[in-house]
Amino acid sequence: MANHAAQVGAWLDERAEEMALLLERLVAVGSENPPGLALGRCARVLREAMDRLGLSPEIIELVDPSGELEEPCVVRGTAGGGDRLVYFHGHFDVVPAQSRGQFTAVRRDGRIIGRGAADMKGGIVSMLYGAAAARDLGLLGDGRIVVHLVCDEETGSVVGAGHLRAAGLIDPAALAMVTAEPSGGAIWNAARGAVSVRIDIRGREAHVGQANLGVNAFQQMLHIARPVERYAAEMAGRHTGFPMSPGDARGSMIVVGGLSGGGSNFNVVPGSAFFTVDGRYNPEEDLEGELKRLTGLIEDAAREIGADVSIRTTQLQPSAGTERDHPAAVALARVAGDVQGAPARFEMCAGILETRWYAQLGIPAFGYGAGRLDVSHGPDEYVDEIAMRRCAAVYARYASDLLS
Ligand SMILES: [Zn+2]
Repeated sequence: MANHAAQVGAWLDERAEEMALLLERLVAVGSENPPGLALGRCARVLREAMDRLGLSPEIIELVDPSGELEEPCVVRGTAGGGDRLVYFHGHFDVVPAQSRGQFTAVRRDGRIIGRGAADMKGGIVSMLYGAAAARDLGLLGDGRIVVHLVCDEETGSVVGAGHLRAAGLIDPAALAMVTAEPSGGAIWNAARGAVSVRIDIRGREAHVGQANLGVNAFQQMLHIARPVERYAAEMAGRHTGFPMSPGDARGSMIVVGGLSGGGSNFNVVPGSAFFTVDGRYNPEEDLEGELKRLTGLIEDAAREIGADVSIRTTQLQPSAGTERDHPAAVALARVAGDVQGAPARFEMCAGILETRWYAQLGIPAFGYGAGRLDVSHGPDEYVDEIAMRRCAAVYARYASDLLS
């Protein structure tokens, strides 16, 4: 293992410049999602890079039912051969930039600054070079790494990862899955689930002078939102048993009224009103059960005042969790600890992770990446080049550990 460590490190150090340049090229493609721009262009840059690394890339074109994503696709590649299998999974869409300047990467003091450097184009570079290093150095035994890069993680990954699952492209017999989300060197072995709903209330419009003839949907909404707020407070008090990063809240997090609105003018009784409820539920919670409970509270409150209400579920994404004493988790912690020179810690990710698509099939799945979560999505997003190479070394040696 010590010998592999030196070989992998040297292989990556020789390609430090190449890795930085690839990240700069990827940052330059403004694959902002929403709405999902330049996804085909970004995929072609990735295909070219993977071709050069001998990762046999293919672009799988997809259909987005909403029609918003530009050339939606999955880029898929392979290192090594044989039945035993480890997945490296990433996404090449980025959240919208705060300024156009973020699409010109700045390389300074060992850092690459730009949109997506941390989340997660830097992670993709680590995975591609990690996979190629393991294959070139003959560390994969009779196994292989399959790389999946999807285009729509920032809007739920239903098109990209959803296709992988629906088309049977995720093999339940895989030994593990790693995604390069910006975990800052921690191992995310669990992630929350998500439930989002939109509540629409229909009243009756009337001019302010004849307000008595109207039915005020806003007033009804206030009545209906109150039990939902009490529900959110209750869920915030139900703590997870998974370890979390300091400062993160341990309860399930629910935002009431992230979006709200209604009415047609200040001098008209509002004939419509709506609000949203968005929840991130701890892995211990039963999502379907909670959605039923929430819906029931809304329906009961509406019935009390005779309100005409409709409830639409806009998102239902299961949580994911792999026990930290699972052999695949122990192996990742051992390799990461060795490369980092400090013990790796396990944490639950406060949001949702694409690990869920694999964990649902019984595959041990982890988030582990070089970027830092606290700079991701922000105006000064960056990744440290040395962290990017260290992560690549972890990926290469983890695959070797599982497959050889
Ligand atoms: Zn991400």
